[in-house]
Amino acid sequence: MNKIINAMTVDVEDYFHVSAFENTIPRSNWEKMPLRVERNTYRLLELFEKYNVKSTFFTLGWVAKHCPNLIKAIVDQGHELASHGYSHKRATEMTRAEFFSDVEQSKNILEELSGKKIVGYRAPSFSVNETNTWVYDVLIELGFQYSSSTYPINHDLYGVPDWPRFAYLRDVSDQKLIEIPIPTIRHRDINTGIGGGGYFRLYPYWLSKRRIDKFHKLEQMPYNFYFHPWEIDPDQPRVKEASLKSKFRHYVNLSRMEGKLEQLLKEYQWDTMKSVYLHKNAKIME
Ligand SMILES: [Zn+2]
Repeated sequence: MNKIINAMTVDVEDYFHVSAFENTIPRSNWEKMPLRVERNTYRLLELFEKYNVKSTFFTLGWVAKHCPNLIKAIVDQGHELASHGYSHKRATEMTRAEFFSDVEQSKNILEELSGKKIVGYRAPSFSVNETNTWVYDVLIELGFQYSSSTYPINHDLYGVPDWPRFAYLRDVSDQKLIEIPIPTIRHRDINTGIGGGGYFRLYPYWLSKRRIDKFHKLEQMPYNFYFHPWEIDPDQPRVKEASLKSKFRHYVNLSRMEGKLEQLLKEYQWDTMKSVYLHKNAKIME
């Protein structure tokens, strides 16, 4: 087994929270939707336990409010709890004051339920770019130590292709915060995303594995993987009104995900973001 220890991360949200369905399922309907996130996340906890993997759970404040016992189960099993904001609004669609209150609300509820200090944050849909770098000032103000909110690729919905590809320190008026981008492989000045989610579901396992191995070989850096509880749930209710593209991205290969995930858990070493990136010997670029 490869010696590099990688970071496993889950964005804890339900199928109806995703940005791709935001025009089809307004926030005012969330309360009426059948919840799947709780049972799906419990299933993930079982899988992580089976392979002795610790993970970071970037959790929506909305999910914490509706599933308080799940939050306790996550921390009781030794995983890291982190914030994915409260209402899954993209940081690019909020004012600084709105962003502050959304993230503060999520941090408060997660800390209250878990009794742990929350130090990690991930923006919905990797929505940090050159237009809203004040996000980092707010995160420092709220006591966060790291963020994993950027994807240095060209993509129709997000992406900062010219930004750093590896964990680095952001200076924010004398204070520092670590930004941990989603991993990419670079070929002829073009970055290809290999971080997980939809790509991992779309491609056969051997191709994802080949890319992760290539990343390790070329970069000698920890890899980090992200996905969502709804990706292991082929029986989730279908959102028929969404666009064909959104539906393809959301539903492709859901039934194969759990098996692929098990392969990944078995074949690599995994730990939390905090354990991989927040210790004094971690490779963090200045
Ligand atoms: Zn999300």
